[in-house]
Amino acid sequence: MAYVISDECIACGACEGECPVSAISQGDDKYVIDADACLDCGACASVCPVEAPKQA
Ligand code: SF4
Ligand code: SF4
Repeated sequence: MAYVISDECIACGACEGECPVSAISQGDDKYVIDADACLDCGACASVCPVEAPKQA
């Protein structure tokens, strides 16, 4: 299981520093999560202003 950042992402960057395993990085037009590294903790979703990280 991993979280996936949806197209609702406004690329604010708030989630990047919250991830305990640094699985989040800036992509071309939104932030992306490395599914292999994600621990499914939900920290990114809790700080996102637009609820873009979704549990896949
Ligand atoms: Fe990182 Fe947790 Fe979000 Fe996965 S769910 S990307 S481990 S903050
Ligand atoms: Fe995108 Fe939400 Fe992360 Fe901001 S906090 S970069 S809107 S996923």
